[in-house]
Parts: sequence; structure tokens; C-alpha cells
Amino acid sequence: MGQLQLEEELGKGNYGTVKRVLHKPTNVYMAMKEIRLELDEAKLNGIIMELDILHRAAAPEIVDFYGAFFIESCVYYCMEHMDAGSMDKLEAEGVPEDVLGRIAGAMVRGLKFLKDEMQIIHRDVKPTNVLVNTKGQVKLCDFGVSGQLEKSLAKTNIGCQSYMAPERIKGESTGNLGTYTVSSDVWSLGLAMIEMGLGHYPYPPETYANVFAQLTAIVHGDAPELPEERFSESARDFVSRCLHKLPGSRATYAQLLSHPYLVEDRNRDVDMVGWVKRALESRAEKQVQQQRERNQQVLEQQ
Ligand code: ADP
Repeated sequence: MGQLQLEEELGKGNYGTVKRVLHKPTNVYMAMKEIRLELDEAKLNGIIMELDILHRAAAPEIVDFYGAFFIESCVYYCMEHMDAGSMDKLEAEGVPEDVLGRIAGAMVRGLKFLKDEMQIIHRDVKPTNVLVNTKGQVKLCDFGVSGQLEKSLAKTNIGCQSYMAPERIKGESTGNLGTYTVSSDVWSLGLAMIEMGLGHYPYPPETYANVFAQLTAIVHGDAPELPEERFSESARDFVSRCLHKLPGSRATYAQLLSHPYLVEDRNRDVDMVGWVKRALESRAEKQVQQQRERNQQVLEQQ
């Protein structure tokens, strides 16, 4: 910790805060995640050892891992700083078809790398875990490498936005947790793409009376689709191949990579740098606007 200079907060997750830090010996900016865990030293040591395999997870679509350590009951995890942040905060207007294709390609290649080279199932595919930088790169973070860490975090975390596949929701409710396979990640990939394409989560909480009703809709309702007005047949077909109710009917990563949507993506120029720049500007404008409105409300109340 002595080698790090703490900078601003980048975001808050379910389990802790992420801060930008400067690693003074190398002059490299990093993102440092702090996770508070009520565990004994032996268990914390076990987590740090398990996280070590992340050093081997080096791929263009995976956020670089720099190292982890613990102090008292907090695990600190240092990774590459992605200066445009996560997709959940950039997708507001809905991502256009060509940009969505670029993101989908990166996600599929990243997930395939984790599975084929590292024997890792991601288990938490969602727009918050898709990070972007101003060079236009798209990378995945936050995948399940440490059994001990997963166990310590996996408490009652069914939030109001579930990316879990139907079989996983059913498994959790019946206590049968053995149903998680790589195709559960493919469902989450499809759902994340719909959210990024629409600009909002496809099972909006205001439509359902409670989380139970929402989960029931995921398990028993029709799978969501990309809107016809804004997306081509190939984009829509790609997503529908991820969102089959039966895990065995979902496409594999190899099939997704040779799907026309990703073949088209490889053959076209996409201005990712320009898109990231505009998305950041529009987010900043919105934040200024919101601040103005809040100031106005305060003035009116006085
Ligand atoms: P969650 O627990 O919901 O997955 P995290 O704790 O991983 O969320 O991250 C919280 C927020 O911090 C993210 O939404 C993202 O905006 C930001 N963040 C996380 N990792 C990085 C990173 N490597 N670079 C830049 N921002 C990051």
C-alpha cells in the first residue's frame, strides 16, 4: 500500500469501492478494488494465492491483473485502469449496431479465452463488468477465479437486475447449484447485449411487482429481443442464439465467432475511439444537467 498514491473513486460495486491509484515505483495508474471480508488470515491468504492465477490471464480482451494483497480484513486487488469505465454507465442512449458488434466480438473472444485457456467460467457477465478505454478497447473483468472469494461474497446477492440464466435461477431456488455451465454465461452475454443495445435493463423493475415476479418472467416468459427498428436481422439473430431457454440450445463461442454478425464486424471499420469520446461527453453533459436540477430544487425548497 505504501507504493500507491490514492486518487479519486471510480465506482462502487456490491462488495466494495474501486479507486484510481498511482503505483509510484513504475508511474503506472491502476484501478484498485477494495473488498471487505470478515475472514481469518489463513482464508485471506488462500484468496490471494488463488488470485495469483490471474497473472496468466493475459489476453487483449481481459483487463490486466497487477496483483493483490490484504490488510486486516480487506483484500486489495490491482488491475489495469480502463479510463472510460464500465458499459453500464456509457450505454444510456443505446449503443449503435456497429459498436455493439465490436463489443460482442471482444466479449466472445474474452469468454472463449477464459474457457479454453484458463478453464474458467466467468459467472458474472453483465455491462458493469465490460470495461472500455479511450483507445476504444473493450475488456472483461471480475470473473470467478477464487472459489474462496466467491464463497465469501455469494451471500444474498440477487439484486434487482439479474443476468442469471433461467437454469441458474431455478437451481438457486431448488438448492441445485450444479447446473452452472459455460452456456449460462452465453445467456448473460445475450442479456447484456440487449441492455447495451436498448440503453436499459430488459426486465425493468417498474414492470414487475417484486424480484420474484421479475425472476419468474426470466424463467417462464419469452426471451427479450433487440428492437427491429434499430438492429439488423443478423444482430437480432446473434442475440436470439444466446437467449435460448434451454442451455443446450444456446450457441457455443465458436459458433458465435463464425456468426454473420461477427463476420460483418471483422470486415468493417468501426470508430470506437469516436464513439467512446461522444459517450463520455454526453454522460458528462447529463451529469451537469442533473446537478443543475438538484441545485434548482434546493433553491426552490429554501
Ligand atoms: P460490481 O461489484 O458491481 O461488479 P465493481 O466493484 O467491480 O462492481 O466496480 C464498481 C465500478 O467501478 C464499476 O461499475 C466501474 O465503473 C468501476 N471500475 C471497476 N473496475 C474498473 C477499472 N479497472 N477501471 C476503471 N473503472 C473501473
